[in-house]
Amino acid sequence: MNEAKIKREVISRIPTIHGEFYLVLYTNNLDKKEHLSLVMGDVQGQEDVLVRVHSECFTGDVLGSRRCDCGEQLHYAMQSIAAAGSGVVVYLRQEGRGIGLLDKLRAYNLQDQGYDTVEANLLLGHQADERDYTMAAGILADLGVQSIRLLTNNPVKINRLQELGVQVTERVPVESTVNADNYQYLFTKAQRMHHLLDLAAPSLPSEPRKNGSH
Ligand SMILES: [Zn+2]
Repeated sequence: MNEAKIKREVISRIPTIHGEFYLVLYTNNLDKKEHLSLVMGDVQGQEDVLVRVHSECFTGDVLGSRRCDCGEQLHYAMQSIAAAGSGVVVYLRQEGRGIGLLDKLRAYNLQDQGYDTVEANLLLGHQADERDYTMAAGILADLGVQSIRLLTNNPVKINRLQELGVQVTERVPVESTVNADNYQYLFTKAQRMHHLLDLAAPSLPSEPRKNGSH
């Protein structure tokens, strides 16, 4: 496998409802995708930088879909970084846990037939989670970040980043709102993918939908 080489192409100022960020766009030699980082404040050479490593989710991030908690997590991260005064959202272009938008939408249809998110991915010939964090490690190195406090509920993400040489000094939990549409998704994350979620008391109008037959 080739060594990952990322190249910083452009930096632009992006004022947002959470404050002013700088968006950095990278190209690379491996997957040809335009990965991004959204940076606030001075992070070069800093320790314990508040970081979210976020994988693209068109339906959640852009449309505000309630099938997952991605959009909410992205804004929670931007808000937390603004409150801290500095930090980074690394935005990786790996839609649908790496399976792409087409198969993610197909997986949604399987979920509407009663399969959970892991079963649906497996039925489509994918692994439960195909995300790769190589580019995230490269981007954090490019920004000169020395160590990070990672906004995540996913212990696997911490391990992967550490394997790639990122020093993670602390895990900062991300809060998500449980609703009838994302309950099954969050429950599967907690039960089958070892996410550290507190789903003790969801206020649900009814049981999670299971209207298909296996
Ligand atoms: Zn999502």
